[in-house]
Amino acid sequence: MAAPADRPPFARPYVGRFAPSPTGALHAGSLVAALASWLDARAQRGRWLVRIEDVDTPRCVPGADHHILSQLADCGLLPDEPPLWQSTRGQAYAAALASLQARALAYPCGCSRRDIAAALAAQGHVHQRFAERPYPGTCRDGLHGKAARAWRLHTVVDGRAAAVAWHDRRLGAQRQDVAEAVGDFVLWRADGLWSYQLAVVVDDAAQGVTHIVRGADLADNTARQIHLQQLLGLPRPIYLHTPLVLGADGHKLSKQNGAAALDTRSPLPALRAAAARLGLPELPATTRDDWLAQACAAWALSWPNRTAPMASSSVLPNEDATP
Ligand SMILES: [Zn+2]
Repeated sequence: MAAPADRPPFARPYVGRFAPSPTGALHAGSLVAALASWLDARAQRGRWLVRIEDVDTPRCVPGADHHILSQLADCGLLPDEPPLWQSTRGQAYAAALASLQARALAYPCGCSRRDIAAALAAQGHVHQRFAERPYPGTCRDGLHGKAARAWRLHTVVDGRAAAVAWHDRRLGAQRQDVAEAVGDFVLWRADGLWSYQLAVVVDDAAQGVTHIVRGADLADNTARQIHLQQLLGLPRPIYLHTPLVLGADGHKLSKQNGAAALDTRSPLPALRAAAARLGLPELPATTRDDWLAQACAAWALSWPNRTAPMASSSVLPNEDATP
């Protein structure tokens, strides 16, 4: 039996979003996620929003936000509302944290990175490069005389580890034991910044987002976000994680491995490349707006509006048709 939170938000009108971090210009990889989220919203006659995820201020590049917005506009991807900047949302994040604190679902942590590494080593944990370093739970029962540095969320609640099962429209059935995979994760960081997880969950709910279409690199954050949604009593969106564009080193394309900023002054080649990554067929249109209209129609055929969870565990786009 599905719990109420597992049920898709049938009753709510479709709202999708693209949520870039302004750490640099839009590149071939981020355009795939932007285009997919726009196409899905347009194909389902929904609204499409843009949210600038600038909570991690040290990583933000001045001007990158407005540059991304102008690149999206060049590509014909125009949001239905003025963009939202997460740096303006501190009060909402504080209210969410206070609600968790009031119910003892969050607790202060005094651990440094070194403390966490040492505690994990003592537990026999072998760290894999690029793998999440699970929090060993050191401060769960108190700070042991240390000063509070961060606030963490309990992933074992009422004696039960948060095991989150969810459905992805491309990846199929997904499951993560959050307590084991990442442990009690950070909501308020030791450097005084809000965590990505808290900001995303609070904003998606505040903006009425029903469908999240984003890059597959974020898929393993989904269970944490669902756990947080459940504790905050927020509805669960429907998820679709798009294929990544890989750099020469085999990792997700990023500025660090040579992603070039897109030249969007003549956007069709970039849009065509992004669509190919999404498995869409080649389209004959020769102008941007004709191409976008054809891409919408192609998307609607490849990715019909799926509102019910699927029985099978893995799905290819063209097998994804609802009867
Ligand atoms: Zn700690």
